[in-house]
Amino acid sequence: MGRLDGKRALCTASGAGIGRATALAFAAEGAHVIATDINADSLADLKTHGIAETRVLDVRNAEMIRDCVGSAGQIDILFNGAGFVHHGTILDCSEDDWDFSFELNVKSMHRTISACLPGMLAQGGGTIVNIASVAGPKGIPNRYVYGASKAAVIGLTKSVARDFIRDGIRCNAICPGTVQSPSLDQRIANQAKSEGRPVEDVRQAFIDRQPLGRVGTAEEIAALAVYLAADESAYVTGVAVDIDGGLSL
Ligand code: NAD
Repeated sequence: MGRLDGKRALCTASGAGIGRATALAFAAEGAHVIATDINADSLADLKTHGIAETRVLDVRNAEMIRDCVGSAGQIDILFNGAGFVHHGTILDCSEDDWDFSFELNVKSMHRTISACLPGMLAQGGGTIVNIASVAGPKGIPNRYVYGASKAAVIGLTKSVARDFIRDGIRCNAICPGTVQSPSLDQRIANQAKSEGRPVEDVRQAFIDRQPLGRVGTAEEIAALAVYLAADESAYVTGVAVDIDGGLSL
């Protein structure tokens, strides 16, 4: 028996990192997973790993979201994974940087939830899992607009949870600390280049800021997403769960 047997899950950002690990974990627990990503190549091998359907979806594109949800059939689980880390303080954040971060990190979730919720209400329930970040609840250096956008994800999550609490809808957020992923490797490489430091020094600094002494794995985050998606968490809604190797302590 899978913990998600009989459920249909729509997942965003399934091509890499936390989103990929989550789509695979949902499928391993028996869900019919519709895995989406902006990058078609990143989806190519997912069907050989038990993913039922793959679709190209840019979560900044409202029309694509409407089409995707409209043709997906019943959706019991919505997993919102897409997000972008802007590096810098308020003084490094242009209007365009702000708009891009909020469009990708927050408005995308407004759009996917708006599109999925009517169907969930009509079928009597559904569960939504949003990826925020520990940079939302905690101030982290050089994560100005990222932190602001992820705090907004937590607010959005709680608001949806409260408004539909008697309608069988649950909405929760996950706040990861530093997690190994392609985008982490890219951030480390970019920072090493801009600061003229060896890549391994910068990587060690990311590890050192984790009180537990290591970065997390995407599979560790996916395991929490499975719990929040499954009926075993039926009494859990409107929470933002830290899973961060102690970074928020
Ligand atoms: P990642 O950033 O390495 O990969 C994310 C995936 O998102 C890629 O497959 C990419 O193609 C896809 N994507 C990018 N733009 C998209 C768009 N417009 N529409 C649809 N898909 C798009 O993965 P990650 O680092 O695991 O990050 C996933 C989520 O976890 C993000 O929301 C991120 O903010 C959050 N997060 C990550 C960390 C970390 O340390 N990695 C920590 C906290 C929170």
